[in-house]
Amino acid sequence: MKILLTNDDGIRAPGLWAAAGALRQVGEVFVVAPEQEQSGVGASLTLHSAVRIAAAPVDPGLSGDPGRIEDGDASHPVVAYSVGGTPGDSCVLGLESVVGAVDLVVSGINSGSNLGWDVVVSGTVGAAIQGYVRGYPTIAISVGAVHNPQFEGAGRLLRLLAQRLSQAPASPGFFLNINVPSIPVERISGVEVTRLGRRSYAESVREEGSGTDKRYRISRNRPVPGEPQPGTDVWALKRDLISITPLEIVLGHQEKTLEVEGLVSGIFAQLLDHPC
Ligand code: MN
Repeated sequence: MKILLTNDDGIRAPGLWAAAGALRQVGEVFVVAPEQEQSGVGASLTLHSAVRIAAAPVDPGLSGDPGRIEDGDASHPVVAYSVGGTPGDSCVLGLESVVGAVDLVVSGINSGSNLGWDVVVSGTVGAAIQGYVRGYPTIAISVGAVHNPQFEGAGRLLRLLAQRLSQAPASPGFFLNINVPSIPVERISGVEVTRLGRRSYAESVREEGSGTDKRYRISRNRPVPGEPQPGTDVWALKRDLISITPLEIVLGHQEKTLEVEGLVSGIFAQLLDHPC
């Protein structure tokens, strides 16, 4: 099995190497990840300048892998490249240039959850989208803590999923967003297949400086009031469950068609009648 591994926390992030250590038990791992941390850049691509790509050192701490296979030395090689661009750039360059076709695309393991509507801001999911749109089975995976994140459960899960997918390939359009509680594995309550919740965190804005130096700092640190809907990813993670959400890219809203047809009824004739 050939696996492209990327992330948005950057080439030195421990979660990336936890994923590499787990996935190399199943197949060849090609790490293509941003030089710098890029959390929250979503699916952005660098389209107005050329992007640098260079061979990068493979993390020496890859021994002691989470979820090492017991029946011996099934480790596959790992190679790594750093990209002077976004997570999306990294995935595009991996699949279109330095690696080529793969059997699985993985983005993560991210430090910090990516839940509900926040997935449109997530660089972890943003990178993964480039695997999905090319038709590769794709997994975005995060743990629910930024400080002192625990990757063991997520690493073990990744290895098991990759193994299962290598035995029974996924159907077309297979795209998962996984969130794992950042707690010791034995305290995780179970695995739940979920749907995306709504907002998981709200933004707060703080003013800094004054006069022409005045700036506004946006932080995503305000909990959204109210209880999350049962069956959502937000709900599952709150209950210490591993949340696995099948994703697709659907922004169109067909239910609004009639309302919008009413809104624009006769508008083209008016538009022709009123030159600017
Ligand atoms: Mn991140």
